Amino acid sequence: MSAGPPAVVRDERLPTRVTIHEVGPRDGLQNEAAVVTVAVKVELVERLVAAGLPIVETTSFVHPRWVPQLADAAEVVARLDLAGSTPLPVLVPNERGLDRALEAGCTHVAVFASATETFAAKNLGSTLADQMTMFEPVVARALAAGLDVRSYVSMCFGDPWEGAVDPAVVVEVGRRLLDLGASQLSLGDTIGVATPGQVTDLVARFAAAGVGVERLAMHFHDTYGQALANTHAALLAGVTTFDASAGGLGGCPYAQSATGNLATEDLVWMLTGLGIGHGVDLDALVATSTWLAGHLGKAPASAVVRALSR
Ligand code: MG
Repeated sequence: MSAGPPAVVRDERLPTRVTIHEVGPRDGLQNEAAVVTVAVKVELVERLVAAGLPIVETTSFVHPRWVPQLADAAEVVARLDLAGSTPLPVLVPNERGLDRALEAGCTHVAVFASATETFAAKNLGSTLADQMTMFEPVVARALAAGLDVRSYVSMCFGDPWEGAVDPAVVVEVGRRLLDLGASQLSLGDTIGVATPGQVTDLVARFAAAGVGVERLAMHFHDTYGQALANTHAALLAGVTTFDASAGGLGGCPYAQSATGNLATEDLVWMLTGLGIGHGVDLDALVATSTWLAGHLGKAPASAVVRALSR
């Protein structure tokens, strides 16, 4: 037995439509212990596209030593329809990654920056200041080749080693990435510690620095159960792009918790109830996450998938 779909009550203060940037195949699978085959990865992307996700981040051209789960990135991309109407971005950590993405014919790439010194050192082998030197040629070459470049900023609301993060530093890092030519910033609550007031404050700080909400996306993690509350705060602030991961794929690698990325189904349920357009077929999405869970050998973390599967 299951209830649903949710009753719809519009709140006129909120946007009428949002874009869900699906990150499950990349951000989700890279943080899952189980490795799935190329065929399963390709089917996952194709099913997400068919379910109506308007953009599906597919894989990462990171060195296989760091993320063995995505060592087959080139094979996966080669089997996907890159010329279709749904953009299929890939993460490129450096120029070598960009070379591989260009070789594969990708049209959309993303770079991954840090808002803290410790995470820049641990994840990028760089410093907060020097990371820009690393991104500059990647972004410049991608733009010259006609690609769209998105930029992630991680640890925007809290850092497992440093604790509180100075929002002024987040704005500075974000502004520099936009100056390099990134089309959009995805502001990550990488360990899921943010609460709604921080979200409202950060969006206002970007606005004060001349960066409007149309350039911002939010990337929330549900580690502390705050992802939807933070999403609602961002909606109230006018943000219209949200990252989410089908089924809640991807544990959080930096916190001892089973839950990581905000589940796409949980986001879709709330947006539907708020009368906000998203274009996603929830039943098709739930079926996809349930199918993938069989390949991963674990139940989906998404509360909505669990509720609808009862
Ligand atoms: Mg994530």
